[in-house]
Amino acid sequence: MTNHSTNHSGNHHLDHQPHHHPLSQPPDHLQSGSFQSNTLSSGQSHPKHIILTSHQHRGGATVVPIQWGAIDPYQRGPIIGSLRSLKHRNVIGTHAGSYGLYRALAVASGVLDPTHKADLTDTAPIIPIGPHPSWGDPDKIVSLDPFGAMAGEIFTDYSQEDYDILPTIAITKAHINIPEIKDEIEQGRLQVDGEILKADASLVVTKAAIDPVWYLPGIAKRLHIDEWTLRRTLFQQTGGMFPDLVTRPDLHVFLPPIGGTTVYIIGDVQAIADPNRPLAVRVHDECNGSDVFGSDICTCRPYLVHGIEVCIQTAQAGGAGIIIYCRKEGRALGEVTKFLVYNARKRQEGGDRADAYFLRTECVAGVQDMRFQELMPDVLHWLGVTKIDRLVSMSNLKYNAITNAGIEVVQRVPIPKELIPADASVEIEAKKASGYYSEDDILAAEALAQVKGRRY
Ligand SMILES: [Zn+2]
Repeated sequence: MTNHSTNHSGNHHLDHQPHHHPLSQPPDHLQSGSFQSNTLSSGQSHPKHIILTSHQHRGGATVVPIQWGAIDPYQRGPIIGSLRSLKHRNVIGTHAGSYGLYRALAVASGVLDPTHKADLTDTAPIIPIGPHPSWGDPDKIVSLDPFGAMAGEIFTDYSQEDYDILPTIAITKAHINIPEIKDEIEQGRLQVDGEILKADASLVVTKAAIDPVWYLPGIAKRLHIDEWTLRRTLFQQTGGMFPDLVTRPDLHVFLPPIGGTTVYIIGDVQAIADPNRPLAVRVHDECNGSDVFGSDICTCRPYLVHGIEVCIQTAQAGGAGIIIYCRKEGRALGEVTKFLVYNARKRQEGGDRADAYFLRTECVAGVQDMRFQELMPDVLHWLGVTKIDRLVSMSNLKYNAITNAGIEVVQRVPIPKELIPADASVEIEAKKASGYYSEDDILAAEALAQVKGRRY
């Protein structure tokens, strides 16, 4: 499949048809180029000239084109989001997701030289991942850069010309120690094999950290909206944080200031893309309260650990297991909203009960969920997954997103009943009643109202 919006010279065809597409007509008041400021220009490393919005071909420079979905990395082009050299930038936003703002604090307070160039010696991936055929399809991966882990190695010609090209993915190895895994070995539920699971109960993993890289036309298409609506709304709903969204229709890639994804691979990495070898997957959205601190109001940590257990068993059977850990706290509503909802649930008339579980979230947040699972399968395509033998998730949203992305799911693995924490029945029964996968009968409305949680 070719990228219809970009020709081979990388010039966006819309640029030549300025009256035929709303993207080429940013609002007049946003077309101002730059302004001089004397008040914001203290310090020698800070330019006196503040660039409010930068325009295409500004100063005569043409940026390196990105042909999203090209399987040849040189044809695809590097993602250049570093602020070290403004004229080289071919994306909107900057690196490291939300951590880019801490970088700004470090520069502002004088502890970081904004011209620092990363020394990438010995940082290359510990094992290679891809390229897979899905990398050459502009529709299959739209929210991360499939070449993100290789950026430091494949675009070395650019680096010699003083381009600052940073990886958006890093791949390393670790031994992890989880107390529940030790218990499971003692109970005979898991077997030590000495390679994947060591005698001291440590688990050998390969792990990848992925920063978000959004190809805006692809994100818009995935969400069934037009690119201009997406760009304008991203600009407006971040309080005008990224004017380039509306002033640079020639730039189609955005590095959003949001959390990324961590992938934990258990077993042979080569088994992931081989449909003849078994694969287990758990896609887990961050829940700090349960995952790290063991809160018993939800099933997150126990289900995560069960996912790891299934991954170990599948890896030991000659396959691999993958935990996809997404920074989408509180269904991507954030932890403040989540705690507000906890209070609303516990204090409502009739107490915390399964039949009002989703309603209380909607009262506070306006929606039940903002995770946009339709973007989640990108990471599976990056890994080359075509078939999942055991999907450790009950979520219908995740299941639908994965199968709609063309990935076969053989079996769904619900959380074992004995792992549901004391105060989490409200959540699990409400989710089952709303369409989550379960092997038991779902409760009728009357019974659902009787499933109650602890009162504060
Ligand atoms: Zn949770």
